[in-house]
Amino acid sequence: MHEDDNVAIVVNDGGLAAGSVLDSGLVLIDKVPQGHKVLLRDLAQGDTIKRYNVTIGRALKPLKAGCWVHERLIEMPVALGFENLPIAQHQDPQLAPLEGYTFEGYKNKDGSVGTRNILAITTTVQCVAGVVSIAVQRIKSELLPQYPNVDDVIGLEHTYGCGVAIDAPDAIIPIRTLRHISLNPNFGGEVMVVSLGCEKLQPDRLLPPGSFPLQSAGQGLGLRQAQDGPETVCLQDDAHVGFMSMIDDIVQTARPHLERLNARKRETLPASELIVGVQCGGSDAFSGVTANPAVGFAADLLVRAGATIMFSENTEVRDAVDQLTKRCASQEVAAEVIRELSWYDKYLERGRVDRSANTTPGNKAGGLSNIVEKAMGSIIKSGTTLIQSVLAPGERLRKDQRGLVFAATPASDFICGTLQLAAGMNLHIFTTGRGTPYGLAECPVIKVATRTDLARRWHDLMDIDAGRIASEGASIEEVGWELFRLMLDVASGKKTWAEQWKLHNALVLFNPAPVT
Ligand code: CA
Repeated sequence: MHEDDNVAIVVNDGGLAAGSVLDSGLVLIDKVPQGHKVLLRDLAQGDTIKRYNVTIGRALKPLKAGCWVHERLIEMPVALGFENLPIAQHQDPQLAPLEGYTFEGYKNKDGSVGTRNILAITTTVQCVAGVVSIAVQRIKSELLPQYPNVDDVIGLEHTYGCGVAIDAPDAIIPIRTLRHISLNPNFGGEVMVVSLGCEKLQPDRLLPPGSFPLQSAGQGLGLRQAQDGPETVCLQDDAHVGFMSMIDDIVQTARPHLERLNARKRETLPASELIVGVQCGGSDAFSGVTANPAVGFAADLLVRAGATIMFSENTEVRDAVDQLTKRCASQEVAAEVIRELSWYDKYLERGRVDRSANTTPGNKAGGLSNIVEKAMGSIIKSGTTLIQSVLAPGERLRKDQRGLVFAATPASDFICGTLQLAAGMNLHIFTTGRGTPYGLAECPVIKVATRTDLARRWHDLMDIDAGRIASEGASIEEVGWELFRLMLDVASGKKTWAEQWKLHNALVLFNPAPVT
């Protein structure tokens, strides 16, 4: 990855046997599995092991060139502190603007743009999830065929709402996450809520006056539209007699929303309206060689086109904090990066773990020895431009927050995706090396395979094979452009594999506050 590195990655399918001779003349001492590291120079005990020109650890014993460098031979470096970090030292790369790229999207009244036209039913509490799920099935089978311009109907189900310490300071995170997801651009500003009635998260606490667009309400039975509250079907309302009256009520309430959504048409919009969230899941050592650099190249194209791109995953950037603070556009932005990552360190400490809680058995089997190595491969997704702003978990992007954004989230795939939806994401890019069938009902997800072997086996799950960068000599630029063009197609309505199979994972709210 860098001329000063003393390890390199075996890319060959099936790895390389002991005795294999590399182009440099180096002979392998051990069998080295695919994606794993081979040592290029002899090391004494305590010498640094470098990949990406970054110290990923120290040798626990003397090591010979040609040996397999795995996690049991490496001592992980201590985490960088938050003092004396380099702040805002990068020059803006001044990339030339990219003009003329467009997609067909849905323009919303608030100025945001959707890539899908979905009716989302907000829920205040888990208690209503079963009822909402049956109502959604009814709406899909009975109403949706009459509204061909509407892509889908979904219930925004979650486990929050009651049995939680709703006044705890950190409760703001799950509450605003749910609020902002209800306002995701893919839902066209149509907000309807199903509430139980007695829960802690009352509808007007979830969506206080002024936080959502006002619409003309339907004529449901248990419909409550207080002067300032959101349009709500309350299951405990006296008007509901029997289960079916609740279902009928939700179905009838959905109708005017579907009518309004159905009247919308896609229109040609500049690529600058894209709000792309990137993350990785099931990473391997190829992630930082193929898929993530291609995503990083596409991230620069998006910034050049005036779009917004969010990267996230606190534990996967923590070990590169100095690289992030250096790349911030201003001192204020760097202070926000430090605020978010130090808050997250304390959150992990409360649970008596540290950043090494990241890295899974699959990461290690894929050649990633520790979180430092994983982090270096992960942040490449963010490209080369300056970090313009930072979002705390659950915050929504403002219209003026463009370019590269660090949206602080846990690395957990579902929680990261959920928080990026709250931030206003209208397109999701997901890179994977080990393979995951990840998808979201709320937003299209383009999955990028790090290895050709995975892309071949999962040919109807992976949207792009970035493994060609290692296996066929494709350039990072080629695959980056291919991804950028696919983003415009998918934003215009082309279905991803996850959409074709209707694969989606549950929303998972990040709740750092206590439950009761
Ligand atoms: Ca992830």
